[in-house]
Order: sequence, then C-alpha cells, then structure tokens
Amino acid sequence: MASPGTLAGRLAGKNCMITGAAGGIGLETSILFAKEGANVLMTDVSNDALMKAFGKVSQLVPNSNRIEIRVCDVSKEGDVKGAVEHLDTWGGLDVIFNNAGIMHARDDDAINTPEEIWDLTQNINVKGVWYGCKHAVLALRRHGKKKGSIINTASVVALVGSATPQLAYTASKGAVLALTRELAIVHAREGFRFNALCPAPLNTPLLQDWLGDDQAKRHRREVHFPTGRFGEAVEQAQAVLFLASDESSFVNGTDFVVDGGMTKAYVTPE
Ligand code: NAD
Repeated sequence: MASPGTLAGRLAGKNCMITGAAGGIGLETSILFAKEGANVLMTDVSNDALMKAFGKVSQLVPNSNRIEIRVCDVSKEGDVKGAVEHLDTWGGLDVIFNNAGIMHARDDDAINTPEEIWDLTQNINVKGVWYGCKHAVLALRRHGKKKGSIINTASVVALVGSATPQLAYTASKGAVLALTRELAIVHAREGFRFNALCPAPLNTPLLQDWLGDDQAKRHRREVHFPTGRFGEAVEQAQAVLFLASDESSFVNGTDFVVDGGMTKAYVTPE
C-alpha cells in the first residue's frame, strides 16, 4: 500500500475501485486516477498480475495518495462485496469502474459457441458488472453520499454487429449497455450516475493475444478504422477519468463511445 497523502487533482478526495485493474484499460486508468489524486483500490482476479501492476503505478506515481490491491473475482458476489466494503474504512466508495471482462478463444457464432463458454462469459462480463453496481449503490447509500459515479465497460460490439463472431461476448456487452442505461435512470435522483464506456478494438492483451500473428484477422479489423489504427488503453482511461470526475456531473446514461469514429463510418478513407 502506498501511503495516504494529500495529492490534489481532478479526483482529489475520491475513493475509487477498479476491477480488472491489472489489464490494459484497468492499469492505465489506475495510473491516471492515482495521478489525479484519487485513493484507488486496484482489484483483479490475478494476484501476480496485480502485484506487477501495483509496481508500475507506484513507480509512475511515487507520491500518490492511498493505492491498494486486492484479489477479486467479479463473478463471485462475495469477492465484489468484500472489496467494495473495504473502502468503508476509507470513508466509503465514490467511484467504481466495472471494467473486468473476458473474450474467450472458443467464443464463436450461434452454432459453435460452447454453452460453458456462454455461461462463463455472462458470469464475468454481465453478473460481474451487476454485482459491482449493486454493491456500489449500497455503499453510496450507507455513507449518505449525494453523488457517485459508476462506469461500466461495454464495447462497440454492443452498438454494431461484428462479422467475425464472438456471440457470447457481444451479448454480454449488449447487456452491460442496457443495464447501465436503466440504472442511470433509476438512481438519477439520488445523484448516482451510471455511464457505459464503449471502446473500439484496442492494443491490449485481450484482443492482441487473440489476434496473434494472424495478419488476415488483423486486416479484417484495421480496414474499418477511420484512423487506420487500433486504439490505445490510455485513450479509454482518459474518458473514464472524465466520467469519474465531477466535470461530467450532468453526463448520465450515456453510451460513451471512444472509437476514433469507427461506429460512425460508412466507408473508410483509402
Ligand atoms: P485485458 O485482458 O488487458 O484486461 C482484463 C483484466 O480483467 C485482466 O487483468 C484480467 O486478469 C481481469 N479479469 C479477467 N477475469 C476476471 C474476473 N473474473 N474477475 C476480475 N478480473 C478479471 O483487457 P482490456 O482490453 O483492458 O479490457 C478491459 C475491458 O474492456 C473488458 O471488459 C473488455 O471486454 C473491454 N473491451 C476491450 C476491448 C479491446 O479491444 N481490448 C474493446 C472493447 C471493450
């Protein structure tokens, strides 16, 4: 644990929890949150990855406020509840970034997706987000907070169909978008904001490991990017920072698309 401090910044004084904090988007968001004065609980299913991620945050933001790590499998409600309640000792959660998600190598089309892969994907990508939202609301109420920000990671595949199938993943991200929208309306008068982040294909292990050296698979995607490139995790993290901060105080229920224009393209430049 880094020692508590008084670093100023766009998230100064906010207690934030991030799931999937050891991965691409989660780690970049942890770094930005730490730089902007937040207290951050970095959680992930992998302890080894968390230790490495914590080392990186500590190195890049040596004078951060409170930064801690905690193993949390988001598909287990007890883990999520325990992690959120850990922040009770800090003064209660203000922000949760429900970001953990998987895209399984055996995820396929309607015919070929194995049922266990369907269930695994929904358990992590959908139930995990639900648990995060549920325990965030309970914590915000427990501490009498008048505002809170919940950011859930969906994907552009919740908005546009992909010809290369990953049906369980796509269905899970559609569910994240829909549940986020509804929670945004249900809790608006309590001051709790819910927004969904919709990233385009990125340069992170989740997608790049899956694509590997397959140039055809890679080109199949790149041709649809108006910018001609994959997005970077830090470009998502910048959006999450805005949604977490009070700068976005009137932004609620959005499908916050960070995709270089991909979902708005008819044809792309040559
Ligand atoms: P990543 O694979 O780099 O990181 C994901 C992290 O989640 C990993 O550290 C992993 O250990 C963790 N994780 C996996 N299962 C977990 C579980 N059960 N409980 C807790 N943590 C778990 O992926 P990323 O690209 O940073 O993706 C983050 C989010 O962004 C995911 O929800 C993903 O679906 C979404 N997304 C990614 C892309 C992309 O192209 N990379 C595009 C759109 C959306």
